[in-house]
Amino acid sequence: MCSFSCQVRRRSSVALSPFLLLGACLLMSQPSRAVDWSTLFTAQDVRDHLSTEKGRAEALEFCRKMGISKVYVETFRDGYQADAPALKTARDFFRQAGLKVSGCVTTTGVGKVSTGWEVAVCYTNRKNQDRLESIFRFTAGIFDEIMIDDFFFTECECSECAAAKGSLSWRQYREKLMLEMSRDRVLGPARQVNPNVKIILKYPQWYDGFQDRGYIVDKETALFDRIWVGTELRDPSSDEWGHKQQYEGYFIYRWLTDIGGAKTGGGWFDPFGTNPTIYLDQALVTVLAGAPETFLFHYGSLISPEYKAQAEAFAARRPEFEDLAKLVSGWGGLLTYKPPSSEPGNEQFIFDQIGMLAIPLAPMARFPERARAALFTAHSLEDTEFVPKLVGFLNAGGTAFLSEGLAHRLNGDPRLPSPDSLELLKGKYLLTVKEGNGRFVVFSDALPRLTYVDAQNRVAQPTSDQREALTELRKVVEEFTVTSPDAPPRVAVFPLGSRVAVVNFTELPVSCKLLGLGGMVSRLKKVFATSGASLAADGATLRLPPHALLMVEQ
Ligand SMILES: [Zn+2]
Repeated sequence: MCSFSCQVRRRSSVALSPFLLLGACLLMSQPSRAVDWSTLFTAQDVRDHLSTEKGRAEALEFCRKMGISKVYVETFRDGYQADAPALKTARDFFRQAGLKVSGCVTTTGVGKVSTGWEVAVCYTNRKNQDRLESIFRFTAGIFDEIMIDDFFFTECECSECAAAKGSLSWRQYREKLMLEMSRDRVLGPARQVNPNVKIILKYPQWYDGFQDRGYIVDKETALFDRIWVGTELRDPSSDEWGHKQQYEGYFIYRWLTDIGGAKTGGGWFDPFGTNPTIYLDQALVTVLAGAPETFLFHYGSLISPEYKAQAEAFAARRPEFEDLAKLVSGWGGLLTYKPPSSEPGNEQFIFDQIGMLAIPLAPMARFPERARAALFTAHSLEDTEFVPKLVGFLNAGGTAFLSEGLAHRLNGDPRLPSPDSLELLKGKYLLTVKEGNGRFVVFSDALPRLTYVDAQNRVAQPTSDQREALTELRKVVEEFTVTSPDAPPRVAVFPLGSRVAVVNFTELPVSCKLLGLGGMVSRLKKVFATSGASLAADGATLRLPPHALLMVEQ
């Protein structure tokens, strides 16, 4: 049964199951895990929770309950610097308890505030620069590894910034400024104090806005020792949080892994804008994306009455995530081009929506040169050599899936092999155009939008034309990767080597099949299932309750 109707949100928290707790005890005897859990004690947590013996004992108990094996102890946040003796006592306490310990810095409240988003500061201001440097010198004197939370950006347009920018564009100036700050005020001084220090830059989950705020993921990743990935999800119906799709955490993790390779250390999420169900979705997508460590932000919030239910839900489900992590590798899907610092045009976060159409994506920061097929959106135009590369790709027989926004901008470009129009006619959702030895498959932006959850927590019913177009689109996708012929919008497919995981992010039960597995075997085998998910007796139909995962193989 594939239902497209209105969603009903589950609000209740997940109860602690004795069976799962038993599972947790058994797992503790195993030598290694495929995913480690960590948490943060913010500078304020250090002051409020780690400055007494009782507070530290409670914090350790929390870590044991959550399976946390590494803690980050923060020196600075929101203008407050924790005391050195309190930081050192906390550091030594956790080390003696057998946990790994690192430091953290959040660059908020450093001094003169940005004229834009007020959580950021002005980095042109000399006093701010000096303060930034002193925070990192202080932290490097206590810790050998320092995480930087995702406020290390700028969008300041104050008179100092305007003068310093000169004839550069804001974007060029911000890039230059943040690279200078990274080199001269963070990495250099910290390494001077502690030659062994490793510094991690954590990127926020808003990847389609990096270019406007001076996050330069290729150049900064090259500079820093390691990177971390924000895989935060929010209630998809929330106006406040921008109607986030669950696929976003997966997409950004895989994209930044393409850039960072072995430097990509883990994912990071928090309980804000979630209920326990969405909170667990974050863990699910972070594990599916392959994060070797998952950072649970942060102790003070996770023990608060507001978010305690999220932490308890996680503690109950943790063994399941650890089992899943052992099965995750070989990430596949349609190669998808998202150059660093690329402008989304009117297709902001479109990848997250496409992923929720059971069309799996394998993001790349470089043009997918020799691929048989790839997905291109307005983001591709950031690459000034994009069209010549695309012509080469088509002449080699490639299939280029084009978003409507990109097709509109490519239409009439004399460099393309065929003069045929790439514009979708009114009421049409799919268009195939032969180009050179290959083809364009243009899909309407109305198809990805089918995954949108409105503020009343409803999902629109696709029209019969839209349903037909989605089926046709998936038939082409099937030639290159795994998809589903009949899954409703808000179901995601994750090809993992010879295995495939399917997750139902709708609020109703879903039954669906898979296409594109290849081979002669007609019956699937169940590899892993979260509670309630099953493979039907026909060996082909996947049955998934809301927010459940089923992994199968041939
Ligand atoms: Zn400024």
